[in-house]
Amino acid sequence: RAKQRGKNQYVIYSDDMQTKSHEKIKMETSLRRAIDNNEFVLYYQPQIDIKSGDIKGAEALIRWMHPERGLVSPYEFIPLAEETGLIIQMDQWVLRTACMQNKSWQEKGLPPMRVAVNLSSQQFSKEYLAETVKGILEETGLEPKFLELEITETMTMDVEHTIPTLRQLHGLGVQISIDDFGTGYSSLNYLKKFSIDRLKIDQSFVRDIMTNSHDSDIVGTIIAMAHNLGLEVIAEGVEEKDQLRFLQYQKCNEVQGYYFSEPIPAEKFELHFQELQEKVKRKY
Ligand code: C2E
Ligand code: MG
Ligand code: MG
Ligand code: MG
Repeated sequence: RAKQRGKNQYVIYSDDMQTKSHEKIKMETSLRRAIDNNEFVLYYQPQIDIKSGDIKGAEALIRWMHPERGLVSPYEFIPLAEETGLIIQMDQWVLRTACMQNKSWQEKGLPPMRVAVNLSSQQFSKEYLAETVKGILEETGLEPKFLELEITETMTMDVEHTIPTLRQLHGLGVQISIDDFGTGYSSLNYLKKFSIDRLKIDQSFVRDIMTNSHDSDIVGTIIAMAHNLGLEVIAEGVEEKDQLRFLQYQKCNEVQGYYFSEPIPAEKFELHFQELQEKVKRKY
């Protein structure tokens, strides 16, 4: 049928492509508008010390409060933001907002904790990343040790760039973690050379920890290896008590996941911090 229609088929196809790019242009326009109109917010998810149950940090996770569509997931807009380069502006906003927020929590008497920010690969590849981070720390007055930067394994592939960049960032005193660890390709040899503090075990391994012996083996191995390299380990995506038990048994250092708390707005994190902390401890 396609052959029969010959030329027509081409026309139909190109129409379809036009619609697609039109959708994209619309989305890009609204993404730009969103930046100007402050439609982005950060949610925070607690990171918990596995021994004490103390909240040691919070990961900042971006949300788009779309005027018509409501809350939009980063999975939907980050790829486009990366494609269009808008991610640089967005990441900068996230970094500044998260540092400001953490500083303000400390001033309000919350226990001092880290705030973790996800970096995009574009941001990570910028020559002046360490300068930017330094500037934001000075501007917000946050002590460097209370900022953690999350990068992924794939971003570290260009080792010629990664080694000096991580060294510079580490030199500022900020902490660095490798997010979604286990899903990419990491050479143990390089891991040793990277100035990093923490591995974040990807949630896909944590999900089936109790039912899939491969996954529980992998998790156990990652923890043992990390500890041998002098690194801490945090498990993400912890949803059940059994998963917590297993991770405790394996001497994982920290946990993060729906079992304790979903990512929540800053005001809620701040106003209900005591309740949140008590709730977390009751979960043990
Ligand atoms: P990520 O950094 O690996 O973040 C973990 C994701 O898992 C978050 O999704 C979080 O809400 C979700 N999560 C937390 N606990 C659980 C759990 O117990 N079970 C399950 N199933 N999921 C859980 P979210 O917030 O939708 O973010 C998705 C991804 O978008 C992030 O993955 C990160 O790669 C990216 N992202 C989020 N915020 C930012 C940002 O500010 N900048 C950049 N560049 N990327 C961001
Ligand atoms: Mg992350
Ligand atoms: Mg992750
Ligand atoms: Mg992830």
